[in-house]
Amino acid sequence: MTASAPLTTAQIREKYLQFFESKGHLRLPAHSLIAPDPTTLFTVAGMQPFKPQFMGAPARFEGHAGEHKRVTTAQKCLRVGDIENVGRTLRHCSLLEMLGNFSFGDYFKREALTWAWEFLTSPEWMGMDRDRLYATIYEDDQEAFEIWTQEIGLPEDHILRFGADENFWPADAPASGPNGPCGPCSEIFYDRGPAYGDDTWQDYAQTRESARFLEIWNNVFPQFDRQEPQPDGTPTLVDLPFKNIDTGMGLERIASVVQDVFDFYSNDVFSPLIARVAELSGHPYEGVRSVSHRVVAEHIRSVSMVIADGVTLSNTGRGYTVRKILRRASRHAYLLGLREPVLHSLVPLVVEKMGGAYPELVQNQSRIEAAVRTEEERFLKTLESGTQRLDALLGTLEKGGTLSGEDAFTLYDTYGFPIDLTKEIAEEYGVTVDEAGYAESLERAQELARAGSKYGKSELFGGAEHALDGLNPTEFVGYDALDTQGQVLTLLAGGESVEQLQSGDEGQVVLDRTPFYAEGGGEVGDIGLLDWAGGEAVVRDTRKTPKGVFLHTVEVLRGTLKSGDTVRALVDPARQATERHHTATHLLQAALRAVLGDTVRQAGSLVAPDRLRFDYTHAAALTPDELSRIELLVNRWITADSPVNWQTMPIAEARAQGATALFGEKYGDVVRVVTVEQGVPYGATTVTSKELCGGAHVTRTGEIGSFVIVSDENVAAGVRRLEALAGEAAVTWVRTQLQGVQRAAALLNTSPDALGSRIESLQASQRAAEKELAGLRRQLTQAQLGGGQASAATRDLGGYRVAALRLSGIEGNELRGAADTLLEQSKADLVVIASDRGLVVKASKDAVARGVHAGQLVGKLAAAAGGKGGGRPDMAQAGIQDPDAALSALDTAF
Ligand code: ATP
Ligand code: MG
Repeated sequence: MTASAPLTTAQIREKYLQFFESKGHLRLPAHSLIAPDPTTLFTVAGMQPFKPQFMGAPARFEGHAGEHKRVTTAQKCLRVGDIENVGRTLRHCSLLEMLGNFSFGDYFKREALTWAWEFLTSPEWMGMDRDRLYATIYEDDQEAFEIWTQEIGLPEDHILRFGADENFWPADAPASGPNGPCGPCSEIFYDRGPAYGDDTWQDYAQTRESARFLEIWNNVFPQFDRQEPQPDGTPTLVDLPFKNIDTGMGLERIASVVQDVFDFYSNDVFSPLIARVAELSGHPYEGVRSVSHRVVAEHIRSVSMVIADGVTLSNTGRGYTVRKILRRASRHAYLLGLREPVLHSLVPLVVEKMGGAYPELVQNQSRIEAAVRTEEERFLKTLESGTQRLDALLGTLEKGGTLSGEDAFTLYDTYGFPIDLTKEIAEEYGVTVDEAGYAESLERAQELARAGSKYGKSELFGGAEHALDGLNPTEFVGYDALDTQGQVLTLLAGGESVEQLQSGDEGQVVLDRTPFYAEGGGEVGDIGLLDWAGGEAVVRDTRKTPKGVFLHTVEVLRGTLKSGDTVRALVDPARQATERHHTATHLLQAALRAVLGDTVRQAGSLVAPDRLRFDYTHAAALTPDELSRIELLVNRWITADSPVNWQTMPIAEARAQGATALFGEKYGDVVRVVTVEQGVPYGATTVTSKELCGGAHVTRTGEIGSFVIVSDENVAAGVRRLEALAGEAAVTWVRTQLQGVQRAAALLNTSPDALGSRIESLQASQRAAEKELAGLRRQLTQAQLGGGQASAATRDLGGYRVAALRLSGIEGNELRGAADTLLEQSKADLVVIASDRGLVVKASKDAVARGVHAGQLVGKLAAAAGGKGGGRPDMAQAGIQDPDAALSALDTAF
């Protein structure tokens, strides 16, 4: 390595991309962390956005003319499976940056390996010591062996051969599939030297785990098409016409090698974060506690990145993963003794270190900080009580024991303790958690929750996939038509395909073509009727499978529906109301951006016949003025009666036309664009609407009729939710509100617009009345105590001087105040005051010292008076029914 200061992480990233540019690669920006395809929640590898190209799609990329068969990227990845490794191993992050070079049917193994070698060893690039580099290859990959040994000159004893489990991708492809492109890989390792471990490279063949030999780069060679195996089970791997290259190098790992730091938490990105955690907690980064420093530093980086990509914290899917990561960090901060929210204060450091390469961090900094802070505050509250509860539970178990699934679930349910956190804490006690039991409890709870909703997803598709295999995507004709003929292709009942559905049966119907819109893009599925000679069925919902097969959930009302029948499919007129709400949602989004600024982004939506809901990113609550401007703008657009058009076009063209897309959503090559043809003026600008959308819309904005916003509330940090109504629903809502206000005004004898001031004056007079009442009560008490004369009533009972008094109409504070006054005036040892609203006993200090107990005395007196009570030795009270009985009981109480 060179003698000058080691390269920074940012410099290494840049050098890598430059190196491959110099080898004819196109540099492309990173994809969002939201996975480009539905196989994973998050992007997990650099190759993922290029799956279509590996499968033979043209290597064309937005914004770049022509084909590009060589591409290089630095791809942020989130590996949920590695979350628990963070802090424990020194080579796993949950968020990693993967540097990759890709070939789509262009160069192959020879170039990939020799370039990797050149990049790592050339003094111009990384300048690594060649003697410290090692490689693994697939056992049968003689070609890779020869390139390594003969062309590159890697000594044979620097190479290990492994089977498919280590060096083939996908790992089980040769033996058991799946069919499709697959191939061997070759991993490059770096020997960090004996200071990191005294194992040898040959040991690695057995251990496959080493602190000394660090895997830095994986080179995958998708070169085979796996086809049906031979009858005897022998795998069939046929050469692909196009051979591809897919490589991935962990930036964090190579940075730690180049910077020669023991673990990558000491590299230039993490060390300031680690230092800050040490400073905040007062615990230096060393010993067993260092796990917590690492977890906090690593996780806050992941969380910031994911939030920057538009994920909001929630209890499902991606949002739940982020919450889980954040809570794990929070718990480790807690372990370091930090009891106040601190994670949010680390966000600026993350932005400083990573914002250059990922500007979305800079743009969203305040939103990230706010989201982190809110979650931390919430979690810290439950953490405190949950930890105590868990410690108590674990304290009762022996080392090696098991925490019940039920208990683990209660911790989750009541304290929001994620199961992995429980496991981690339990592990510290040497206790395991019954995870199967936990899963059962969770399942049961979810079932209960689902019982309310009619169609669980699993219910709809459950077991039905195979019955739908081989069906073409349904032809959807419902943008223009609401009443068409279709042929029944398949019928399902209880997830199984059936020949017919009879009167009274419930099931699903697949047609060749349909006007029914299937739930998607926030819009609900259509309802309606199927009608055929001799029969009729209601359609209660419409969904579609990921492959585009529409399922109409029906109940047959009369007759029998058979496969092959022709039916008339009739969408319920409620669809028109849905369309009004859908177009209104587009107008609303445009109006929001006009009034609040372009940073507003859609974060989710629901479009139904009776309402619309629109979630959007914005930090502050909308002012009444903003709300009314937005509402007015939409209504002006409605009055302008602009035509609404839709059109399909290549995605690049849609983007070029500036169509609004849902952030992080994956679109196909051809998209549908919905355009409101005429804009409306707002200040000096014109507000327009053009969105990528597959939903159903009105053909002119005038059809929407009217629009009213009914609520705007906070749903998550930085995310707000507007609910609004269009058409008749809007008019009905306004009328109902108005009637409520008018009724209130009538009751208060005023007009609706004066209602506020009328209520204010009523509140003021009520406060005055309460004050006066309190004054009167005090006077009443004083009057009944009768100045100093009350002392005359003292009696001697059981050796104590007792002043007893019967009052009426006073309670609570007044009663206790009266007892104080009486005790002082009468100089008695004990005072007893009974009123029709309560009983109080007070004893002097002196009497308490001599053994009197007001609490016990009150108990006896109250028992005689049909009540209950107790208290301290010097003061006690009770609620009673009969004050006179309480006073009579005094005689026998001592
Ligand atoms: P490991 O066995 O160490 O978990 P892997 O086999 O999961 O690695 P690949 O899926 O081949 O790794 O990913 C390619 C490269 O990405 C690895 O060579 C490594 O440099 C890096 N990498 C993988 N997982 C992580 C992680 N969790 N943190 C940091 N870098 C990683
Ligand atoms: Mg791994």
